[in-house]
Amino acid sequence: MKRKVEKKAKIALCRLCHGTGLLRHKDAAGHQYERQCPQCEGSGRVKVSAVMEFDIKPYKG
Ligand SMILES: [Zn+2]
Repeated sequence: MKRKVEKKAKIALCRLCHGTGLLRHKDAAGHQYERQCPQCEGSGRVKVSAVMEFDIKPYKG
């Protein structure tokens, strides 16, 4: 028997940029630059949703 559990979308802090919306990089010359975080597109927050599927089978010793 398969059971599906859906987690509704919720707002969470973007873990890729830690909520700043920017990713910092250093190039080979040591120059630091920033670019927009691709995961939250610069907002610092993301919507997270999930669908989990459980496969449940009888256990008979
Ligand atoms: Zn981000």
